[in-house]
Amino acid sequence: MFDSLADRLQSVFKKIRGHGRLDEKSVQEGLREVRLALLEADVNFKVVKDFVDRVRDRAMGQDVLGSLTPGQQVVKIVHDEMVELLGGEHLGLQLQGKTPAIIMLVGLQGSGKTTTAAKLALHLRRMKRSPYLVPADVYRPAAIDQLHTLAGQLGVPAFASTPEMKPVDICMQAREEAVRKGLDVLLVDTAGRLHIDELLMEELVAIKAAAGPQEILFVADAMTGQDAVNVAVKFDELLDLTGIVLTKMEGDARGGAALSIKSVTGKPIKFVGMGEKVSDLEVFHPDRVASRILGMGDILSLIEKAQGSIDQAEAEELQKKMQKAEFNLDDFRTQMRRLRKLGSLEGMLKLIPGMGDLRKQMGEMKMPEKEMSRMEAIINSMTPAERKSPKLMNASRKMRVAKGSGVKVQDVNVLLRNFEQMQKMMKKVMTAGPGALKAPTSP
Ligand code: GDP
Repeated sequence: MFDSLADRLQSVFKKIRGHGRLDEKSVQEGLREVRLALLEADVNFKVVKDFVDRVRDRAMGQDVLGSLTPGQQVVKIVHDEMVELLGGEHLGLQLQGKTPAIIMLVGLQGSGKTTTAAKLALHLRRMKRSPYLVPADVYRPAAIDQLHTLAGQLGVPAFASTPEMKPVDICMQAREEAVRKGLDVLLVDTAGRLHIDELLMEELVAIKAAAGPQEILFVADAMTGQDAVNVAVKFDELLDLTGIVLTKMEGDARGGAALSIKSVTGKPIKFVGMGEKVSDLEVFHPDRVASRILGMGDILSLIEKAQGSIDQAEAEELQKKMQKAEFNLDDFRTQMRRLRKLGSLEGMLKLIPGMGDLRKQMGEMKMPEKEMSRMEAIINSMTPAERKSPKLMNASRKMRVAKGSGVKVQDVNVLLRNFEQMQKMMKKVMTAGPGALKAPTSP
């Protein structure tokens, strides 16, 4: 996300930082480029003007220009102002008050409401809440099925809505059902249309009045840029939104919607969708995102990502297996899949300060993802028994596996050899500590 904007801004800042001394003229020049970069990123015109004016006012002060590191200071001011533009302090879901709490998801058709409902269910469960998915889009029967399918995948309960029911009744009955089942957050997936439509809006107002939701989240496709902002304004006028979820952010190189929507609507972005999978949801932290745009990295998000995908009990189980050299190809495959779930290596590099340039240099270099897919294909072609003890494989089985996974038999041999070495090494390290790997000091 924000790739093209980030590239532009980072090259402007390289220039500004390069100046030992800064004068008004070079700051003005730099800001002119910042302004162009933001406009090209499809940020709202007025938002850009206010932003640049604020940065200019602060940057022109004597204490900045006269300081020893004026370039750094200007970058810091831009960073601070960008944090404000993106919403200032991070604001999580506000679910205090009545139980079950109710979150209403609203927005146009195709914006990603249903997917986001499922993503939020997963997020809430990780926060030790008990979510209840409530399909209230009765006009598109497929929407009910879609949410039930996602709920099934997640193992989260969903209310049995039918197309004949009225959305308000669905919410009321779902709330009673939630109380009976001991569930504490309702996620209501409402109907969307292709355009704003009066009847639809009336229905949403009626649901709001009846259900009294703690959160009304407007879901919008980030790729639609200023259209998303304009539609948000309309929804906000009628419903008084509490927050915004921008979806499809992973593909949005420009970031116009993200950088304008808070200033224009006054409502904070609470989450961003980063892909189609239910785990592809990120909590939106304005300060971290600003750092990412300005090439300062975002280590905190990287750590959270890693933590979210590792389960403590499983980690301990794994450790035991390693100690006993019982770590087999099944476990290896699971770990490899987990690593891939964290996203591409390229995506992770972007989160590390200063790694942006390295990422560019890597260019066409073979990404380990490809290698991992190949290894996984080989492991998939083995039988469960072979995965547990690869020694069972004779020459003809190796040929079959190579054929089944579309690789050469040498590739299978390399994988098995490497795995065997890894297993030995793990056992050594786990039982004797990392010192066991040091080369012997005397022959
Ligand atoms: P709804 O009509 O608002 O309920 O939208 P859906 O949840 O059905 O989503 C519409 C399409 O957008 C589906 O194909 C989703 O998989 C896709 N989608 C939703 N969120 C994201 C996201 O964050 N990234 C990407 N790439 N696709 C998304």
